[in-house]
Amino acid sequence: MKTPFVTLEQLQEIVRDYPTPFHLYDETGIRENARALYRAFAWNPGFQEHFAVKATPNPQILKLLREEGCGVDCSSLTELMMSQRCGFAGDEIMFSSNDTPAEEFALAAQLGATINLDDITHIDFLQKTIGYIPKKISCRYNPGGAFTLGESEEGFQVMDNPGDAKYGLTRPQMTEAFRRLKELGAEEFGIHAFLASNTLSNDYYPALAAILFKLAVELKEETGVHITFINLSGGVGVPYRPEQSANDIAVIGEGVRRAFEEILVPAGMGDVAIHTELGRFMLAPYGHLVTRALHQKHIHKEYIGVDACAANLMRPAIYGAYHHITVMGKETAPCDHKYDVTGSLCENCDKFAVDRMLPEIQVGDLLVIHDTGAHGHAMGYQYNGRLRSAEVLLCQDGSTRLIRRAETPEDYFATAIWD
Ligand SMILES: *Cc1c(COP(=O)(O)O)cnc(C)c1O
Repeated sequence: MKTPFVTLEQLQEIVRDYPTPFHLYDETGIRENARALYRAFAWNPGFQEHFAVKATPNPQILKLLREEGCGVDCSSLTELMMSQRCGFAGDEIMFSSNDTPAEEFALAAQLGATINLDDITHIDFLQKTIGYIPKKISCRYNPGGAFTLGESEEGFQVMDNPGDAKYGLTRPQMTEAFRRLKELGAEEFGIHAFLASNTLSNDYYPALAAILFKLAVELKEETGVHITFINLSGGVGVPYRPEQSANDIAVIGEGVRRAFEEILVPAGMGDVAIHTELGRFMLAPYGHLVTRALHQKHIHKEYIGVDACAANLMRPAIYGAYHHITVMGKETAPCDHKYDVTGSLCENCDKFAVDRMLPEIQVGDLLVIHDTGAHGHAMGYQYNGRLRSAEVLLCQDGSTRLIRRAETPEDYFATAIWD
């Protein structure tokens, strides 16, 4: 069972100040989870989480994570600018982008961010753009093929397709790139890879770590470079469905430690720092999209129309992603009504749930859509002239704080040319 991090009474107070729909974030949950991550990797002195800004690009969220020791992972110019404005220092910023415009490399270099190259041709592109190769540099690895973990009768526990992904360098290119970067003056090398997304398995990071640790040992032998960090990137998932169980970050950290002791330490590489670039794991469960039932419609199916739409949360519309829904105040009522829960966009995919069994819903009921803290508000857009909602932080003392105002029609019209 999935329980919201607010009660009906709390939410009724909150909606007096902020009209629905809005994204609500739980400061306590975010901080406790970040601390658990740091405890899990406390064995590694250089450990750092670089929060994937694209998941929740809100300055107040970034500052809160910075207080917990996190850096950031940026993938675009504006994410770099936001991180700079939030006070992140160069060594706290990873720049992992692909198909990168020159101006973005220039700003990343100017900020002193650690640049993670997505392709071998980007070595020359970077050199030409900024005039030098930074002393500290990273390359993204793509082993190709399929990545699978833990086959059982139901299939693989984790399955993804690096061979089909546009990212990273091939194995032979990794050697060539490290040789060339060393010739051009690089001194501290990093390896990065993202092989599977939203994994629900304590084995993903340890398996990925073992692949990257072995690669690091080989690359050191082949090229003589000093590898100082290995970035396991994102991909640790969250249980969107109530029947799924959450990853245990302590078990994950311990699994990575074991691979570290087995592979890197005997190769004399015990000084390698582990980095992560988690987005979803850091924020998704600590965000709710709060919305209200506006209409009931009885045609060929039963519909509940709410005041949020895919412009506030796109994942169900574009991937058919499951997001759990709690009808506030009816947590223990029987789920004996089958509904499609829809938004107002003129797109039939604008449904937060299809054929979902829920308690009977009345117009005016408050609904919480779970796990929207990452890739939620961030993926918002303005189709149909729908505006992006506010973001509200539920603070540790129970008070609330507006951390992004809702867009107004003036925001929407601001880029139009009228005459
Ligand atoms: C999106 C992304 C992440 C974060 O992924 P999550 O699945 O949210 O953990 C990390 N690194 C890179 C390079 C990404 O593109």
